[in-house]
Amino acid sequence: MFYSYMIYYILGIVMIPGIILGIWAQSKVYSTFNQYNKVQTKHGKSAHEVARFMLDNGGCTDTQIQQIRGNLTDNFNPSTNVVSLSESVYNQSTISAVGVTAHEIGHVFQHREKYTPIKIRNALVPVMNISSMLMWPLIIIGLILEMTYYVTAGDWLLYIGIGIYALNIVFCLITLPIELNASKRAEKMLLATGEMDTEETKGVKKVLNAAAWTYVAALVTSILSLLRLILFVFTMRGRD
Ligand SMILES: [Zn+2]
Repeated sequence: MFYSYMIYYILGIVMIPGIILGIWAQSKVYSTFNQYNKVQTKHGKSAHEVARFMLDNGGCTDTQIQQIRGNLTDNFNPSTNVVSLSESVYNQSTISAVGVTAHEIGHVFQHREKYTPIKIRNALVPVMNISSMLMWPLIIIGLILEMTYYVTAGDWLLYIGIGIYALNIVFCLITLPIELNASKRAEKMLLATGEMDTEETKGVKKVLNAAAWTYVAALVTSILSLLRLILFVFTMRGRD
């Protein structure tokens, strides 16, 4: 068993491109955010005021806005119907702060309009919670069965285990259009409500595009970790 862990970690080498892409994306997010966080919007309204205006304007008067700790921790929680804006965003009236806020408001409207990718992702969450608990037991039992007479049963357990792991890729794949769509909505809303002009939304686009790269990095990482799992299973199977 010790050797199998060793092999699994050695196979971790395949993860390196994903890790590099992740670090690059994260630094791009911070640098672009900081760059446009020095530029005030012409309108001058703070991010939380813009959020309130956009929500009320779109008929979401019941959605609450709160300030939370941290940097770039902004999010919308559909179960509590609360938009949380980070300390670096809430009171700011910069291109970055207002842009990130509009993106979160984009998520509010996605949920309200029952945007199809959101429905798919929501349906996937409970399946993934259960299956992630089953994955390793299935693979370990599968590998043990491979060493007995029950090779076919072992094969099936391994395939199911790998199939479950592949759900992570589906989850990352469905997250990507959700994020891009929220950013597109953000730009449109900023222009439609007159909070920004076209020149200002170009900055917003750069900030939100940088953020989208982190989701691309997550997708690449999920594909590579599936590859690692497949390599691991085949290495273990070929050992005897
Ligand atoms: Zn988002």
